Amino acid sequence: MTSMNQDQIEFQDYARRWLEENRPPAPRERLPITPLEIMSEAHRDYLQDWQGKVHGAGLVGADYPVEYGGFGHDGFQRIANQEMGRARTPMLINIVGLNMAGPTILAHGTQEQKKSLIPGCLSGSEIWCQGFSEPGAGSDMANQQTSAIPDGDNWIINGHKVWTSLGHFAKWMILIARTSKHHKYDGLTYFLMPIAGHAGVTVRPLVKITGESGFNEVLFEDAIVPDNLRLDDVGKGWTVAMTTLTFERGAAESAGGGGGDSAHPVRRLVDLAKNTWRDGRRASDDPVTRDAIVERAIIAEGMRQNGRRARVPALCDHPMRLPLQQKVTGSEFVQDNARLGVEIAGAHSTLYKLDEAAPDAGYWPLAYMNSYGHTIAAGTNEIQRNILGERVLGMPKSK
Ligand SMILES: Cc1cc2nc3c(=O)[nH]c(=O)nc-3n(C[C@H](O)[C@H](O)[C@H](O)COP(=O)(O)OP(=O)(O)OC[C@H]3O[C@@H](n4cnc5c(N)ncnc54)[C@H](O)[C@@H]3O)c2cc1C
Repeated sequence: MTSMNQDQIEFQDYARRWLEENRPPAPRERLPITPLEIMSEAHRDYLQDWQGKVHGAGLVGADYPVEYGGFGHDGFQRIANQEMGRARTPMLINIVGLNMAGPTILAHGTQEQKKSLIPGCLSGSEIWCQGFSEPGAGSDMANQQTSAIPDGDNWIINGHKVWTSLGHFAKWMILIARTSKHHKYDGLTYFLMPIAGHAGVTVRPLVKITGESGFNEVLFEDAIVPDNLRLDDVGKGWTVAMTTLTFERGAAESAGGGGGDSAHPVRRLVDLAKNTWRDGRRASDDPVTRDAIVERAIIAEGMRQNGRRARVPALCDHPMRLPLQQKVTGSEFVQDNARLGVEIAGAHSTLYKLDEAAPDAGYWPLAYMNSYGHTIAAGTNEIQRNILGERVLGMPKSK
C-alpha cells in the first residue's frame, strides 16, 4: 500500500502549512544550486539556521528514534521531503550528515555514538563530509592508502583525501582508512573523524570550472582519532562503507530529510521557454522545444513513479535495483535538463551569473557546468551500470 493513513494526511497538512508560514526571506546573495557549492559563511549560516528550524518543526528526522534527536514516526519523512520540494524552500545543508553519516551511524554505531552524533546530523548544527575518495582510490574505492595505526586508545591517521564536498565547513568526516596492508577489503576500518580545527588536519579548497569551490582536498599528518570514534569493528570498514554508499545512492530516499522534487526543474524549463523570445515568438510556442520539455516531464514523472514503486516490497525483486536505476536516470536527467536550458536560452547562455542581462540570473550555464559532476559523484554511472548488470541482472563479471 502506498496511500497515506489518517496520521500521514494530517502530517502532510501540517507540513504544508508550516512551510508556507515559515518560509525564510531570501538571502542577500543568491544561493548556489546544491549544498556542494556553498562557499560563503553567510550562506552556511543561513542554511544551518534553516535546517535547525525545519528540524525543530519535526520535518527533518521525522522517522528517526526520539532518543537520537528524531520524532519516532513511520513514513512521515518522505511526506516532509515532498512538501519541502513542493514549497521550494531552501535546501538542507547537511546532506552528508542526513543521507550518509546519520543512517550509517544508526546502522553500525554504539549507543553512545548514536546519542552524541545523530542529533547534530539532523539539526544541521554539526556539518559532515565524506572522506572516501583519494587520488588513487575513486572507482577502485578499496585501494585506500590513508593509514590508521593503533596507538594505545587512539589511532594515528596519515593520508590524502580528495573531492571532499563541504570539507571546508565540516566538523566531522566519515573516513575510511587502511588498518592492514595484507588484506584489500578486510584491511579497511571506518572512523568518525573530527576535522574542523583538529591538529594534523589541513583542508584545502579546489576550484571548479564554474569558479566555485565547495570541493576540497584533506590532508592528514599524524592526526589522532580516539578508538571510541571507530565505527564498527576493525577490518569491517568495507562493509560499513557499503552501507553508506547504499544510502548515498538513494536506498532510503533521504531518510533523514531533504531530497528533491523531480518536477521542479521541468517547471523551471517551462518558465525559461515562456520568457525567451526568438524571431518575435516565445520559445514555448516552438513545437520542437515543447516536445523536448514534455519529454523531460515524462522522465520526471517516471522517476516519481519509480520512487513510489520502491516502497512496495512486492514490486522490488532486488533491494538495489530501483535505487541504482534512479541514481543513473536522475543524474542523466539533471544533465539533460541543463543542456536543454542552455539550448533554449541560446546565445544568452554565454552570459554568466552577475551579468544583469543573463536569463534566470545566469542559472543555466552554471547548472550546465555543474551537472557533469552528477554522473561522477557517489560512484560514476559506468560503475553503477556495472553493478546493475552484475549484481542485479546476474550478468558475468567485467573483470
Ligand atoms: C560533485 C562531486 C562530489 C563529490 N563529493 C565527494 C565527497 O564528498 N567525498 C568523496 O569521498 N568523494 C567525492 N567525490 C568523488 C567521487 O566519488 C569520485 O570522483 C568517483 O568515485 C570517481 O572516482 P575518480 O574521480 O577517481 O575517477 P576514476 O575512478 O579514476 O574513473 C575515471 C573514469 O574511468 C571509468 N572507470 C573506472 N573504473 C571503471 C570500471 N571498472 N568499469 C568501467 N568504467 C570505469 C569511470 O567511470 C570514469 O569515467 C565527488 C565527486 C563529484 C563529481
